[in-house]
Amino acid sequence: RATRGGEEVRGYVPSMGQIFMRRFQMVTQFRQSLEDGQVSVHYQPKVSLPNRQVQGVEALVRWVHPEFGRLSPDEFVPAIEAAGLIGVLTGFVLEESLKRIRKWLDEGLRISAAVNLSVRNLADEEFPAKVVRALDQFGVPPELLTFELTESGVMSDPQKALPILRELHALGVVLAVDDFGTGYSSLAYLRQLPVDEVKIDKSFVLGMGTDLGDLAVVRSIVELGHSLGLTVVAEGVEEDVARDQLEAMGCDVAQGYLISRPLPEDRLEAWLQARTA
Ligand code: C2E
Ligand code: CA
Ligand code: CA
Ligand code: CA
Repeated sequence: RATRGGEEVRGYVPSMGQIFMRRFQMVTQFRQSLEDGQVSVHYQPKVSLPNRQVQGVEALVRWVHPEFGRLSPDEFVPAIEAAGLIGVLTGFVLEESLKRIRKWLDEGLRISAAVNLSVRNLADEEFPAKVVRALDQFGVPPELLTFELTESGVMSDPQKALPILRELHALGVVLAVDDFGTGYSSLAYLRQLPVDEVKIDKSFVLGMGTDLGDLAVVRSIVELGHSLGLTVVAEGVEEDVARDQLEAMGCDVAQGYLISRPLPEDRLEAWLQARTA
C-alpha cells in the first residue's frame, strides 16, 4: 500500500479499482467511524467588516481514517451522499454545532454556526421537523443557526427543494447560498429563493488581487446582494489586501485563512479568548 504515515506518497496514482475500493470502505465504515470518534467538526470563524468582530463560525466536517489518514470532505462527502447516508452526516454536524452554540450561550456569548447542506437533505421532507427537534433539544434560538446550500443543490430539483427551504426559513433559521458565482446564478434565480445571505465563491476572492475579471465579479455580487437586501460574505480571504478591498466595497463578512483556518473545538476556544481578551 502506497501510504506513509497516513499520507499518500506523492506521485502515486491509484487505479480505478483502488478508488472504488476506497469509496466502498468509506461508505461501509462511516457509521462506525462516527461512533469511534474518527469524525469530528472543525469551525472556521467569520468576522464582520469593518469592525472585525466574530460574527459566526462555519462547521466543516473532518474524518481521520485509521488507514487512509486525513480524508478531504471533497472526497468523502459526495461518497456518503451517493450512498444515501447524508442524513446521518448532516445530523451529526448539526448536533455538534448546536452543542457548541449552547456552550457559548451558557458563557453569555451569542455566536452563530453555519452548517452545510447537500442536495439530498433538501429532498427529505422530514428535515425541517428534525431541525425543530434539534433546536428544542439544545435550547438554541433559530436565528443562531445558518444553513449553507449551493445553487446546484437547489436547482437540481427546485420542486422538492423550494418547499423545504421555505419551511426552514419560516422557522427563523438563516439561509445562505454558498459558492455563489460558480453555477447557474442569476438575479432572477436569487430573487426566487428565500435566502438571507450570499457567499461569494472563494475562487473569485482568491483571484481578485491579480485578475480584474474576478475583481469585477466580486464587486457585482456585493452590489447585487445588497440591492436584494442580503448579507454578503466573502470566503477565501487570505491576504490583507483582499480584506481591505472587500471592506472598501462594503462586503459585510469575511472568512478565510487570513482570519483563521478551520479549528478543532479546543483551539477555537483559545482563538476566541485571545481575540476578546
Ligand atoms: P465549502 O462549503 O465551500 O467550504 C469552504 C472550504 O474552503 C473549506 O474546505 C475551507 O477549509 C476552505 N477555506 C476556508 N478558508 C480558505 C482560504 O482562505 N483559502 C482557501 N484556499 N480555502 C479556504 P473543506 O473544509 O476542505 O471543505 C470542502 C467542502 O466540503 C466544503 O466547501 C463543502 O462543500 C464540503 N463540506 C465540508 N463539511 C461539510 C459538511 O458538514 N456537510 C456537507 N454537506 N458538506 C461539507
Ligand atoms: Ca460552505
Ligand atoms: Ca463555499
Ligand atoms: Ca465548495
